[in-house]
Amino acid sequence: MRQLIVILGDQLNRNSAVFDGFDPAQDAVFMAEATGEAAHVWSHKLRIALFFSAMRHFAAALRSEGLTVHYAQIGSPPHGALADALAAAIVVHQPQQVVWVSAGAERLNHALKATCDQHKVPWKIYPDRHFIATENQFSDWAKGRKSLRLEYWYRQLRQQTGLLMEDDQPIGGAWNFDAQNRAAFDTRGPGLLPAPMGFPPDAITQQVIETVARYFPGHPGALDGFDWPITREQVEAALEDFITHRLPLFGHYQDAMWTDEPWLYHSRLSAALNLKLIDPATVCRAAEAAYRQGQVPLAAAEGFIRQILGWREYVRGLYAHYGDEWLDMNALNAQHDLPDFFWTGDTPAHCLSQTIGQTMRTGYAHHIQRLMVTGLYCLLAGVRPRAVHEWYLAVYVDAVEWVEIPNVIGMSQFADGGIMASKPYIASGSYIDRMSNYCAHCSFHPKEAVGAKACPFTTLYWAFLDRHEKRFAQHPRLALQVKNLQRKSAEERALIRAQAESHLAGVMQKP
Ligand code: FAD
Repeated sequence: MRQLIVILGDQLNRNSAVFDGFDPAQDAVFMAEATGEAAHVWSHKLRIALFFSAMRHFAAALRSEGLTVHYAQIGSPPHGALADALAAAIVVHQPQQVVWVSAGAERLNHALKATCDQHKVPWKIYPDRHFIATENQFSDWAKGRKSLRLEYWYRQLRQQTGLLMEDDQPIGGAWNFDAQNRAAFDTRGPGLLPAPMGFPPDAITQQVIETVARYFPGHPGALDGFDWPITREQVEAALEDFITHRLPLFGHYQDAMWTDEPWLYHSRLSAALNLKLIDPATVCRAAEAAYRQGQVPLAAAEGFIRQILGWREYVRGLYAHYGDEWLDMNALNAQHDLPDFFWTGDTPAHCLSQTIGQTMRTGYAHHIQRLMVTGLYCLLAGVRPRAVHEWYLAVYVDAVEWVEIPNVIGMSQFADGGIMASKPYIASGSYIDRMSNYCAHCSFHPKEAVGAKACPFTTLYWAFLDRHEKRFAQHPRLALQVKNLQRKSAEERALIRAQAESHLAGVMQKP
């Protein structure tokens, strides 16, 4: 065999560089379901099922094109680590070279290289073509800059791609339309929402679901209700469905939350993007075309494109730039454990039980639920950033390290001390009240910080400011919030501290 081409579970990209010059007579593809990858962190059953199902469909599509695929299914024989599965394949197939696309997680590149070296097989790593920016572009951009704010990176990529640009200027005369976006629903709520297109399990997915139930019985989450797109064709259909039915109001309601409405106007495309079933340029171009054809307002198209062209490319660059440093960051010295209710949703705070309950059922929560409900709670409570990271990596179907880690450690926990965000995203229960109807169904009151009805977010918000008063008193964007704290009497502040302590002691208690 000339080349053995390793395709990792999140590299299901038919346009990948490893397929250039593929010769079916001499080359073969290698894929493996390694228990180690599914369990290297605690992982939601739906997340494992999604990966395995998409991998098996991708392998089947390659075979139908006439490519040889050596696919090691879980359990036959059992391979804990991907590197062990590759080692076994090298012994059997004796390739002259092993090639793969650079893995999102550096630990996998190391493991694959070491396996090849051990077996004295030359290896080659190709850059990942999936992204819009090249691998070194972010680091080159970051060189010599004092701060790495999203906005400037995003503008550069708008100019580079020409997305929503005319004569080198942003269409509509502005780079963003935040003022028109980010509304809450009024008290009537979202009304009848267009249900997102679902993809019930076919025979392959059904088999995967049974396999996951058998091999990962103790993992969190449920397996019923699987309806994620897992082939390129399904993802294209999901994208079209989103653009037609939900993109027009995406920007406007992108920050809103509502009881028992997990999807609202969101695209549900993150997992497909992260598995590389579709590339970000295609998704952005489709949104742009909808705007240019008068199907959606500019603010909606721009708001959506910014999430992908801006945020997604930005966090990818940040992850590569800081590498393993991310996991040791803890700028606010947060030391609490993650409360157990994060695994069950069993808590009287309605916003948390909704967000976590939905996460356990579907493997999904939208951005504001992740940032301003679960993430905010951990930030205010002072949960160890690494424990928070492990939870996020475990529970979301779209969770892969390169995108999850900067979002959690940086954006949501401010453990990076301000690399991603100029200030910690802190708020009291009033923010959640403004952006959702959660508080209307809750026994706590968002305005109260002490007493039986005190909202944990409000108590912990003041306790956070109290704890970090010195650090943020002069901060240009937080000084006002610290000033508000300082208006409280010493007695009030003592009561808040006591309430926060007793709340945390209660939720940290093992049942
Ligand atoms: P939409 O709201 O429809 O947005 C469109 C697309 O924009 C998404 O599919 C996604 O690809 C991209 N996007 C939006 N925001 C971000 C962002 N901050 N960073 C990167 N891409 C973004 N996204 C993941 O893909 N995997 C994760 O593990 C992940 N963990 C997160 C953890 C925290 C604490 C936070 C605050 C955000 C996280 N995100 C993560 C980003 C974002 O929440 C999800 O991409 C989004 O909720 C997925 O749902 P959607 O596809 O319906 O997105």
